[in-house]
Amino acid sequence: MPETSPAARICHHCDGFATAAIDTGTRTTDGTRITLRVDCPTCHGSGALPAPTAAQLAGGRA
Ligand SMILES: [Zn+2]
Repeated sequence: MPETSPAARICHHCDGFATAAIDTGTRTTDGTRITLRVDCPTCHGSGALPAPTAAQLAGGRA
C-alpha cells in the first residue's frame, strides 16, 4: 500500500523525544513534584526537523 503522506523527518538530535521533564527534587505543598520542561535545542520541542529548503532539495548545502 503506497504511503500517501511524506515520511516525517524525525529530529536526529532527540529521536522525536523533544521535551524532557527534569525533576527538581522538591515538591509543592500538595505533594506534586516540581519539574522543569526542557525542549530539544535542535528542533525546539517539535520532535521533527523543518522542511528542507529548495537549495537542499536541489542537492546543494544550505
Ligand atoms: Zn529534537
